[in-house]
Amino acid sequence: IVSREVHPADSVVQVRGLSIGGPAIHVIAGPAAVETPEQMALSAQMVRQHGGKLLRGGAFKPRTSPYAFQGVGVEGLEILQQEARRQGLPMVSELLDVRLLDTFLEYDVDVIEIGARNMQNVGLLKEVGRINKPVILKRGPSSSLSEWLMAAEYIAAGGNHNIIFCERGVRSFETSYRNMLDLSAIAVMKRETHLPVIVDPSHAAGKAWMVPALAKAALAAGADGLMLDIHPDPANAWCDGEQALNPGEFALLMQQLSALATTL
Ligand code: PEP
Repeated sequence: IVSREVHPADSVVQVRGLSIGGPAIHVIAGPAAVETPEQMALSAQMVRQHGGKLLRGGAFKPRTSPYAFQGVGVEGLEILQQEARRQGLPMVSELLDVRLLDTFLEYDVDVIEIGARNMQNVGLLKEVGRINKPVILKRGPSSSLSEWLMAAEYIAAGGNHNIIFCERGVRSFETSYRNMLDLSAIAVMKRETHLPVIVDPSHAAGKAWMVPALAKAALAAGADGLMLDIHPDPANAWCDGEQALNPGEFALLMQQLSALATTL
C-alpha cells in the first residue's frame, strides 16, 4: 500500500486543513516534553509567531534510563491541547503504549507519533492502523529502509493510510553527535513511497548548534517538512535541553528556511 509502484502520485496527509506532502514545507515545533502550562504557552507562541504549523510536545517520554524524567503523563496531553487550541495549531504527541490510545483519542491528539524505539512494535502499529488519525512513523535507530517501509505497511494494512515518515538519524560509529542523519534515506524514501517524508534534525544531532545545518540539508534533499525541538529556556528544560533551539535561534532558522522553501 505504501509503495510508489502501486500509487505513483505523491500522497498528501491532511491535518486540520494543512496538507503534509503538498507543495508547502510545514514545520512542526515544540519542546521534547510538556512541562508546565507556562512553558507550553510560551512554546506555542514561539511556534505560531515564527511560522511553525503544528505544535509538538511529549507527555510520555521514552527515556533510555528508567530513572530519568518519564513525562508528566495525561496532564501533559491536557496542557498540550489547551495551548495548541489557543494558538490554533494542530498538536503532535508520542504514543508509547497501546493502552493509552483511547486517552489520545479523547484528547483529540491530531497527529500520533510512533517514536523510533517503537517503529517495530507491531501491536502498536496495528492499533494505530485501525484509527483514521494521521501517524508520524519515526525510523528506528538501526532500521533499514525496507524495515521502515514494512512497519508503515502494518499501519496501512489496517486501513489507516495517513502516514508520515520521519527520518531522525541512525546509529553510527561517530561519537561527536547523537545519531547520523541519513540524508540518503530521504532520497530513497521519496522514490520508494508516495507518502510524505519529514526530518527531525534535533533528535539526530542531539545538539542545538547543529540543527540549522541539518534542517537546511534535509529540505535540500527533498524532505516534505521538519520536526524541531524548541524551548523558551533550553538551559532549564526537563528533557533534551541540549538539542532545543531557543527563541532567537528558532526565529533565525525559520527566516532562513523560508528563503529556501517556496512556501512555508
Ligand atoms: C521525540 O520525538 O520526542 C523522540 C523521543 O524522538 P525519537 O523517537 O526519534 O527518539
